[in-house]
Amino acid sequence: MTTSPQYLIGGTYLDTTDLPTFSVINPCTEEVLWDCPQCGAEHVAEAVKHAKASQKTWGATHGADRATLLRKTAEILGGRVDEIARALSLEIGRPFAQAQNEVRRGTEILTWVAGEADRLFGETMTSRSGGRLTVKRDPVGIVAGITPWNFPVGQPLQKLAPALAAGCTIILRPAEVAPLTATLLVKCFTDAGFPDGVIQMLQGAPQEMSKAIFASTDIRKVAFTGSTAVGKLLLGQAADTVKRTSLELGGHSPVVVCDDADIEAAAAETAMLKFANAGQVCIAPTRFYLDEKIAEDFTQALVKQAEARVVGDSQDPASTMGPLAHAGQRQKLEDLIADAVAKGARIRTGGGRPIGKNAGYFLQPTVLDQVPDDARIMHEEPFGPVAVLTTFTDLDDAIARANNSEYGLASYAFAGSLARCEKLADELEAGVVGINNIEVSHHEAPFGGIKASGIGREGGRYGILEYMNVKATHITWAA
Ligand code: NAD
Repeated sequence: MTTSPQYLIGGTYLDTTDLPTFSVINPCTEEVLWDCPQCGAEHVAEAVKHAKASQKTWGATHGADRATLLRKTAEILGGRVDEIARALSLEIGRPFAQAQNEVRRGTEILTWVAGEADRLFGETMTSRSGGRLTVKRDPVGIVAGITPWNFPVGQPLQKLAPALAAGCTIILRPAEVAPLTATLLVKCFTDAGFPDGVIQMLQGAPQEMSKAIFASTDIRKVAFTGSTAVGKLLLGQAADTVKRTSLELGGHSPVVVCDDADIEAAAAETAMLKFANAGQVCIAPTRFYLDEKIAEDFTQALVKQAEARVVGDSQDPASTMGPLAHAGQRQKLEDLIADAVAKGARIRTGGGRPIGKNAGYFLQPTVLDQVPDDARIMHEEPFGPVAVLTTFTDLDDAIARANNSEYGLASYAFAGSLARCEKLADELEAGVVGINNIEVSHHEAPFGGIKASGIGREGGRYGILEYMNVKATHITWAA
C-alpha cells in the first residue's frame, strides 16, 4: 500500500523528493498524518506536455475500449475499499464504515459511466438542401479537474470518469485535505491500464496552479467543484482563454415541511443528510420552513435524531459522526451560531463543542429554532451539522422565502397531498429537488445547480456531454 501522497506526471508517480511539502492533519486528533509534495506552475506545464502527447491517440480510442478500462478500474477499486476508506476516514474524519460506502459508490459511478462510453453516438439528419447532415461528438481535449475534500473519492471520480469516457486526457488537482485518498484512487486507474499521460495528478498550491491551468491554451476545459467564492474567481480567470468551464458550487438548501407530511419520516430523512459527513455536504438540508401547526412536533423529532448521533473519532466503530474537516470550518460555524443566537434564535440541541473532546475539530449536531431571516446563517452556507428552523403560515410565502437565496442547488419538501407535492416540485427553484425524500443524487440523473450554485451538470448522459464538443457537418457530393 502507498502510505504517502504522491503526484503523477507522464505515467510516473513522484513523491516529496526535492519539493516543498505541506502537512496533512488528522481532524480527529489534530496530529500530522503525513506530508504531501507541493507542486507548482512548472508541474502544470509538464503535465500539459504529456497530456498533449497522449490526447490524439486517447481521443481516437473506441468508446468500447475506454469503457473496458473504466470497468477494470471499478473492479480494482472494489478490491481496495478498506485501504482507500482508511485513508479517507483519517484525512477527512468521516467514520470508517461511511467512508467504505463512498468507495463502494465510486465503483458504481465508474460502471455506470463505462456504459455511457459504449453509447457515445452522434446523429444524422436530412438536409433541406440535399446531402447528408451529421452531428459528431468529439472529446473537448485536455481537461483540468479541481475538486473539494468533502467527498475525496466521489468528487475526483465525477471528473475522471466522464472525462476519460469522453476521450479527454485529464489533469486532476485534488483538495489539499485528502491527497493520499486521491493518490490511492488514481492508482486504481493506472493499475487498470490507462496509458501513460492520459491521467496526471498534481498536489497542493491551488492558486499558483489554477492560474497556470487557466492561462494554458492547451487545456480546453476546467471542471471545478468547490465554494461559490472560489468558483466566481475561477470564472473570471476563464475569460482570457474563453475556457469551457463547469462549476459545481455551494448550496443552502431549503426544506418546506407541510402540516400533512409524515413528520417522523421527514425528520429522519432530513437528519440523515443534515448530519452525514458532519453536515459537510453541498446538498445538505439547511433552512427548514415548518408549517406553524406541526413546527414543535417536527422540531422535537429532529432534536431526537440529532441527539442520537454518536460524535467521535473516525476510527472508532461506535462513531456515527466525525469532526469538521479543518479548524477554519468549525470557527465559521461557531461564529454563525453566535450571530443567530444574538439575533433571537434558540439552541434546541448542541450549539458547541462536545464535552470532553479537547482535540479534534468536533462540533455537536445542532438544531436552532426561531431563527430570524436576517441571521447570517439564513444566507451564508454553514457547511456543517447545524439545522436552522423557522415557521410559516402560508405555503406561497414559504416557497418565496425558500427561493430567496443566491443559491439554487437542492431543495426539499415534505407534504401529503399530491397537489401540494406538485406545486412544490414546480415552484422550488433548484437544480435538484426532493419531494418526500432527500435522494437527489443518482448516477442516471443530471446533478448540479442554478443561480450561484453553478454551471453545468454531472451525472447521467448530461455529465459526459459536458466533456464533448458537437460538430455539425454538411456533406454534399456530385450526382
Ligand atoms: P473551496 O472552494 O475552498 O476549494 C475547492 C477546491 O478549490 C480545492 O481543491 C481547493 O484547494 C481549491 N481552491 C481553493 N482556493 C482556490 C483558488 N483561489 N484558486 C484555485 N483553486 C482554489 O471549497 P471546499 O472548502 O474544498 O469545499 C466546500 C465547498 O464545496 C462548499 O461550498 C460546498 O457546497 C462545495 N461543494 C459543491 C458540490 C456540488 O456538487 N455543487 C459538491 C461538493 C462541495
